[in-house]
Amino acid sequence: MASQEIETLTAALSRLPGLGPRSARRAVLWLIKRRETSLLQLVDALAAVREALVECGICGNIDTTNPCGICADSRRDAASLCVVEEVADLWALDRARLFNGRYHVLGGRLSALDGVRPEDLSIDRLLQRVEAGGVDEVVLAMNATLEGQTTAHYIAERLEGFPVRITQLAHGLPVGGELDYLDEGTLAQAIRARRPVS
Ligand SMILES: [Zn+2]
Repeated sequence: MASQEIETLTAALSRLPGLGPRSARRAVLWLIKRRETSLLQLVDALAAVREALVECGICGNIDTTNPCGICADSRRDAASLCVVEEVADLWALDRARLFNGRYHVLGGRLSALDGVRPEDLSIDRLLQRVEAGGVDEVVLAMNATLEGQTTAHYIAERLEGFPVRITQLAHGLPVGGELDYLDEGTLAQAIRARRPVS
């Protein structure tokens, strides 16, 4: 019978994506054996994240400042807005400096299965940004999954009537492909060859 502390930590870790109760328990035991090294590093890193990181009030990126470094960077093209599902996708696109505009993080994708509705995503905030003016192009950089594409179509419909060009990533994205997992070459090709939403 494990102590309450271990149970609490195991329960917290098992809620992380990709970790079930068994692997969470293994991780806890692994950390306890390395209290002075790995455990201490983890505690410090978690504290630093908790203290330093905030969500950008404009685009939804996670950074040490609000607005984030990208939204605050005047060298970036404010007329081009790239819409992504998750912060991880923004980072994947931005790692290689593939796109010189700004971003908008939806916070997920529409999903009947998981009960994710339009109002659960930051779609209204996206429309407000476009409505505020100064945006010429909206790039829909959703994952090449069914739910990603459903989300892209929904947003394209909502943007109808606004004076913006709507483009999406070129196919060449593997079907079912998630941006976060793509190599930079594939991603670069997809964004360079982006095309109007039909
Ligand atoms: Zn931002």
